Amino acid sequence: MASTQKTLLITGVSSGFGRALALEALAAGHKVVGTVRSEEAKREFEALSSNHSAFARVLDVTDFDAIEPAVAEIERTIGPVDVLVNNAGYGHEGVMEESPLSEMRKQFDVNVFGAVAMMKAVLPFMRERRRGHILNITSMGGFITMPGITYYCGSKFALEGISEALGKEVASFGIAVTAVAPGSFRTDWAGRSMRRTPRSIADYDAVFDPIRQAREEKSGKQLGDPRKAAQAMLTAIASDHPPAHLLLGSDALGLVRGKLTAMESELREWETVTVSTDG
Ligand code: NAP
Repeated sequence: MASTQKTLLITGVSSGFGRALALEALAAGHKVVGTVRSEEAKREFEALSSNHSAFARVLDVTDFDAIEPAVAEIERTIGPVDVLVNNAGYGHEGVMEESPLSEMRKQFDVNVFGAVAMMKAVLPFMRERRRGHILNITSMGGFITMPGITYYCGSKFALEGISEALGKEVASFGIAVTAVAPGSFRTDWAGRSMRRTPRSIADYDAVFDPIRQAREEKSGKQLGDPRKAAQAMLTAIASDHPPAHLLLGSDALGLVRGKLTAMESELREWETVTVSTDG
């Protein structure tokens, strides 16, 4: 049970992490305002709470002009937002050379610009109150990479960097920013939500086709349980000293540790060249 009731604003509560976090937060006694993309999803979400603690707002996070008024209306009619969770996002899959720039723009509009627009809308309120917590759902793909998800990794690296830097800008106002980087979880991410660019260059068959096939086969059978991820996020939300980065899942931990080790060894291998530019 939460020691203090908080109001969470979570983007994308129709499925996956957003839905799981909303349900766990409601069960813990918090109030949840969730964004969805249809009137039907709004009705369905609000019906989840028997004591009127679940509120929904129809908002596409790429409708940038609508974000500020939507947050102001939530603050006015529902109450102060204690925690913003930028969860709405999707994965683009496709070899970079094959994938049009328009897909990259869409990927960054949702995963990066949408999240930033939400943060810019809540920050004036949180700053005035001198308290608040922002969670940005990034990904282990914000640390480690693999072929075929260049635009996705780019967007998640961007959100990791933005989160960390923003955390330093707002810490003295009592506002914490946590980038939450999940490994592979059983959500709709690799299923209905993924945008897959069709194949066109045979040279990439060997490097990419097995990855696409494995991802399709694994969808729905991933290691991570979104409900447990939600509980982990509630632990971070309840903390007096939330982390700047929080990995979720043993797969994420192993892969990110491996990346850091490989990076450290490359830094050492090239250290002489690196320091040769001083002076
Ligand atoms: P999901 O089940 O597909 O949920 C994605 C949610 O985002 C849905 O509610 C979706 O709404 C919403 N959304 C997508 N585009 C939107 C937009 N333009 N405006 C508003 N809402 C939008 O997948 P998920 O795994 O829970 O994804 C949540 C976050 O976790 C994403 O940022 C994803 O990149 C990240 N993540 C997932 C995994 C994983 O393995 N599952 C791992 C690392 C990171 P609709 O129902 O209307 O489409």
